[in-house]
Amino acid sequence: MLISIFVVLFGLAFGSFLNVCIARLPRHASIIRPGSRCPQCGAAIRIADNVPLVSWLILRGRCRACHWRIPWRYPAVEAGIAALFLLCYLQFGLTVRGSGTAVLCFLLFGLAVMDAETMRVPNAFTLPGIALGIAYAGLLPAATLRGHVWNAVASAVWAAIAALVILGIRWAYFLVRHKEGMGRGDAKLLAMIAAWLGPGLTILTLCLGSVAAAMFGLVWIAISGSAKKTLAARLPFGSFLCAAAIYGIFAGQPVIRWYLKFFF
Ligand SMILES: [Zn+2]
Repeated sequence: MLISIFVVLFGLAFGSFLNVCIARLPRHASIIRPGSRCPQCGAAIRIADNVPLVSWLILRGRCRACHWRIPWRYPAVEAGIAALFLLCYLQFGLTVRGSGTAVLCFLLFGLAVMDAETMRVPNAFTLPGIALGIAYAGLLPAATLRGHVWNAVASAVWAAIAALVILGIRWAYFLVRHKEGMGRGDAKLLAMIAAWLGPGLTILTLCLGSVAAAMFGLVWIAISGSAKKTLAARLPFGSFLCAAAIYGIFAGQPVIRWYLKFFF
């Protein structure tokens, strides 16, 4: 119980840091300097006003200086990361898998929000994410040193294959439609997912993410009445991939086993 509380507090702190990344990385701004500022009036935020969730509640969601309404994204990201960290601890324990998965959730959640807000999947998250995934695979329990090395090499190979698959789809789409469908960012994102999760969950992620994006698109067209053209430019495919990957992390193995039963 005590550990769970600690994990949640840890998650809130990382959620707060993730908010800074989300606000600055797509604009290529430093995440270290300057310190936290109100995006509206630029007033520096005092440490006492920078406590995750608590400060937002005390200030009733407004900037102390200019009363700008702080988007609900801020507390939502803090609460979301805290919940995901807790889930990692409860499902995988204080292990390499548990802490590694928490890192992956941090990256996926951040990329999902950044793609949804800015239509960008920043390299600042995906490229270190691929390297971390390969390192994570090498650190996972293995019987021998050779086993550790083999896991890391396999992770790198899966990442490369995933990137090539997306680039292939992108190229085919371009040949047929003469315009760009998926972005290069999506290729790096799926490579990152493959480095961490291996082939099974990556295929599940690609299928679930595509279906979810397509359904969202159909509902969007039905409700807004806007044409397909404007939709394609606005649909953050990376966000759907990230959400599908997070689902796969915690609930994907039973789905894969269920599916494989039809063949073996
Ligand atoms: Zn302000």
